[in-house]
Amino acid sequence: MKIETKMVHSGDRRKAGDYVPVTTPIYTASSYFYDSMDQLDRVFGREEKGQSYSRYDNPTTNALEDLVTELEGGHGAVACASGMSALHLALLAALLDRPRRVVAANALYGATTNLLMNILGPLGIETTFVDVCDLTAVEAAVGEAKAGVLLMETVSNPLLRVGAMDKIAEIAKRAGAPLVVDNTFATPLLVRPLELGASIVVHSATKYLAGHGDVLGGVIVAGESHFDTIKILSRTVGPTMSPFESYLTMRGIKTLALRVERQCANACKVASWLASHPKVDRVYFTGDPAHPDADTISRLFPKSLYGAMVAFELKGAGREGVFRFMERLQMIVRATSLGDVHTMMLYPAMSSHRDLAPKQRERLGIRDNLVRVSIGIEAAEDIIADLDQAMG
Ligand SMILES: *Cc1c(COP(=O)(O)O)cnc(C)c1O
Repeated sequence: MKIETKMVHSGDRRKAGDYVPVTTPIYTASSYFYDSMDQLDRVFGREEKGQSYSRYDNPTTNALEDLVTELEGGHGAVACASGMSALHLALLAALLDRPRRVVAANALYGATTNLLMNILGPLGIETTFVDVCDLTAVEAAVGEAKAGVLLMETVSNPLLRVGAMDKIAEIAKRAGAPLVVDNTFATPLLVRPLELGASIVVHSATKYLAGHGDVLGGVIVAGESHFDTIKILSRTVGPTMSPFESYLTMRGIKTLALRVERQCANACKVASWLASHPKVDRVYFTGDPAHPDADTISRLFPKSLYGAMVAFELKGAGREGVFRFMERLQMIVRATSLGDVHTMMLYPAMSSHRDLAPKQRERLGIRDNLVRVSIGIEAAEDIIADLDQAMG
């Protein structure tokens, strides 16, 4: 079955007694009972699949987990209350029986960097940051740090660089370290990290998977070697997704292919319009043939689906100029987050990269005139018209 078909059907239509619901209902019960104590005993002992307590399993959340497992080609999944709780659990599981050292991409989601530096760091887990677009540097860092785990994002934020995940997975394998990939920006429609050699995939379901700006959630998908550990940790610590959010995420995924295809097509149009605008300095877009990682992108991404994030620099603008430009937007939503049906714009220097010193931002290439747009499913003409009138 093609992935677009799985998005519509997988996980659904589990038998619930004598009937089969067409789509998975929201099961709010926190616990479950059986006529036979022997059966409950087997469920508690995980000898038989089934429900006992919602921190362990929940039918609605299990359906979502089965769906995302199918989409990413994994062995199993755990849905979490947020993308960050999913990342935390994934790193904990990967490091449980490994040296407590992480080699991570130097351009990560802000809260992920925070997790590594300010939470895992004080617990004795050291992180070495490396440019994942430089394979020689990755190889050296993995060797020097004697890495216990590697962590990268499929597409970096906000400059949209793409590391050679397949080759990084080989480096990880040679070092015996699992590769954890945050695949939030790409979605399984574009890239499936487990097929490229990663051990664990993490999503912020808040973004493209749920896709409508009404869910906070995360999902971890793992291959056979890590799933049991993740599940055991999740049962104990309980960062699980609530059944209502699981339902909304599942409902969102049914249209994921349609949404992302439209978003990617819109992004191509917006990026090429921006590139020829006299008030725009530079455009960052994964579909740009002159992208510094164009070879990797054409190897790993499907044809014409390059992602729907676009970043650009406003010519001659400082913080004030960017503020006035963003205030003039009439349709595009000025808000954090991404991947929703509506187009959204964010100012990295003020939000995701606020805590960095200006010099450090400069070193990462994040200038004060850079804005990031998550392209929605509206008519491309209307997105362009709003940008155009806001440029003044
Ligand atoms: C949003 C995001 C996260 C965090 O997810 P939450 O659902 O906000 O906890 C992690 N990684 C990336 C790439 C994100 O965009």
